[in-house]
Amino acid sequence: MSKNGMDRDHPAIEAHGLVKLYGKNRALDGIDLTVRRGQVLGFLGPNGAGKTTMIRILATLTRPDGGTARVLGHDVMSEADAIRARMAVTGQVASLDEDLTGHENLTILGRLHGLSRAGSRQRADALLAAFDLTGSAGRPVGGYSGGMRRRLDIGASLIVTPDLLFLDEPTTGLDPRSRGHVWELVRQIAAAGTTVLLTTQYLEEADQLAEQIAVIDHGRIVAEGTSAQLKAQVGSGALHVRLLDGEQRTQAQQVLAGALEGTVHLAADPLALSMLLATPAGATDVGRLVGHAMTRLAEARVGVAEFTLGQPSLDEAFLALTGHAAGPATTDQEDVNA
Ligand code: ATP
Repeated sequence: MSKNGMDRDHPAIEAHGLVKLYGKNRALDGIDLTVRRGQVLGFLGPNGAGKTTMIRILATLTRPDGGTARVLGHDVMSEADAIRARMAVTGQVASLDEDLTGHENLTILGRLHGLSRAGSRQRADALLAAFDLTGSAGRPVGGYSGGMRRRLDIGASLIVTPDLLFLDEPTTGLDPRSRGHVWELVRQIAAAGTTVLLTTQYLEEADQLAEQIAVIDHGRIVAEGTSAQLKAQVGSGALHVRLLDGEQRTQAQQVLAGALEGTVHLAADPLALSMLLATPAGATDVGRLVGHAMTRLAEARVGVAEFTLGQPSLDEAFLALTGHAAGPATTDQEDVNA
């Protein structure tokens, strides 16, 4: 079926009460999710939250134990073939043949998708050029870097432009430059009209790419909205404090927790603390609150190098929504509740 089909009126994804059990573990514990056509949805959650399981069900690679899901208007249980014909999945591990060159990998996939010999070569050339891989097209994939493989893997999923693309943690393990490169590709894919469901552990990635974000934790959606809405849900502002002396951080944490209502968050930087300001007040009130906190720090003789007041980051929003930090950085962060 093509993009002109009757099913254009359906959302790209519509899931109700999805449950997936692995023994006693409820990997998905009643997920409701709607994704509009043409939208980029960021599915954000820490390790083990259930992101991959959700993708596997929607991509018809595994069956749910409860609930229903329709993808591109088709039921995941009874109409899997119709869904598979119009979507593509890229996983955390590239599904490429290491011994073949980048060009050969794409050409073979093109042939498997029914393109002619010349058509598949042309498509491979175009994708390799778009993904900045022309110079390495003739080299075996076994010698590619992580970033190159990831780009080729995404390219492979676009041999035939899908209506829906599942990108499972497309930048995990990539350096910042390669990550930026993949982000640009995702933007291009979305601009061309493909609906994208992107799972990520990186808050910044969801912030950068996704119009809508669903936060998943322990198999449940704990928050949903635009990045701005999620931040707003969490509080009116965030206070960031940098100390002169890291030895005083615990003391500063206690003073701030006593002076302001909220959770004091210790960042990976040993001199830094941050805190969400729960008061949905105007700037004057927030200013007064912060002034009060700074006075208390001065009274306690805690040396402050700088402090800033701004919007909460998505990272701080996640912490406030789930009670723990997002992603693999959990171990170097501690929180104290006021
Ligand atoms: P990550 O970011 O680490 O990939 P995730 O959010 O994608 O995590 P899932 O891979 O969906 O999380 O896993 C959700 C839960 O289900 C975890 O507790 C995981 O251990 C469990 N799980 C996933 N796949 C299986 C499986 N095939 N057999 C048993 N348990 C599984």
